[in-house]
Amino acid sequence: MATAVITGSARGIGAAIAQRLAKDGFDIALNDISEKSFENNDIVEKIKALGVKCQVYIADVSDSAQVEETVKKIKEDFGTIDVLVNNAGITRDGLLARMSEENYDLVIAVNQKSVFNMMKNVAPIMMKQRSGRIINMSSVAGVHGNAGQFNYSASKAAIIGMTKSASKELGSRGINVNAIAPGFIKTPMTDQLTDQQKKAILDLISMRRYGEVEEIAGVVSFLAGPDSSYVTGQVIEISGGLSM
Ligand code: NAP
Repeated sequence: MATAVITGSARGIGAAIAQRLAKDGFDIALNDISEKSFENNDIVEKIKALGVKCQVYIADVSDSAQVEETVKKIKEDFGTIDVLVNNAGITRDGLLARMSEENYDLVIAVNQKSVFNMMKNVAPIMMKQRSGRIINMSSVAGVHGNAGQFNYSASKAAIIGMTKSASKELGSRGINVNAIAPGFIKTPMTDQLTDQQKKAILDLISMRRYGEVEEIAGVVSFLAGPDSSYVTGQVIEISGGLSM
């Protein structure tokens, strides 16, 4: 059975991706930063009900030592790692002139360094297998930039560079590396926006609605599956036609 690892998957987009890949038949290694993230949460039961193996690995993906240990453990428990979805991410929004160094460093560490940590440890496993799929979660903010998200946009733009470089290094080993750039998707992350911000955003979206987490998970399923075997180094925008 093939295995998929999804970071930051206790809720939101990550949880939807985990459920979709479980439906596709993957065994699932879930990750999140604390046990608390899985409290009052039936994600593990929902995935097991689909007839696949599912295990939780608590780790802060911005911490290289924790990631090294976690990836080792997942490999021991599941035997292979076939799909890696680097989904964990945070926002600490604010205008550049008022942004604290602490909030800059934190967002870069969680959103960007985590992708380095995970890929550095998972790529050698996939290279030995001579197959694998890596899907990195960027954002429209990384493609187009966004006022008030200097740190977040920087981290998400870096993910695009990392994706393209890794696709060039790993393509000959049968490993496809792609990025997804979601627009505004209904999750706890976007719930934090004010009503005024939400209305202003809707006016910029051709489809005049927010995306659903399942609409991201469907594209991840494509990138993890057989139909995308010749797709690598790409950034797929899933934004309902957002123009920023
Ligand atoms: P979310 O609901 O906030 O979920 C993110 C998950 O990541 C949470 O469960 C969070 O755990 C976990 N996490 C945070 N820091 C972590 C760390 N250091 N190590 C491990 N796990 C960590 O966010 P989402 O909206 O589903 O977003 C998922 C991804 O899509 C992010 O990369 C985000 O930037 C990207 N994205 C989202 C949107 C959108 O509209 N929602 C748009 C574009 C891109 P706790 O909360 O329990 O700490």
